[in-house]
Amino acid sequence: MKPTNKTTNAARRAWSAARRKHIKRGEVYRIEIRHDPDCLIYTSARICTCNPDRAILTLEGTELACVKNAGPYDPLEMLEVPA
Ligand SMILES: [Zn+2]
Repeated sequence: MKPTNKTTNAARRAWSAARRKHIKRGEVYRIEIRHDPDCLIYTSARICTCNPDRAILTLEGTELACVKNAGPYDPLEMLEVPA
């Protein structure tokens, strides 16, 4: 099912809020963008065409946050610096 803009925007805000909440300067985290197996990110096109789950984990693998339904992944979205 294709998400509505409203739910995708809400999910994007939730993902932004999760990063602000959990990611602190001077600490290292794992960010997992969990693409569908048939996403074109895995081809030479390197463009996300799925609706991946986005997760923040500690280096030990404990999941701190996971946001679903935030729409296709744009690599630039991770350049936003936490305040
Ligand atoms: Zn994807």
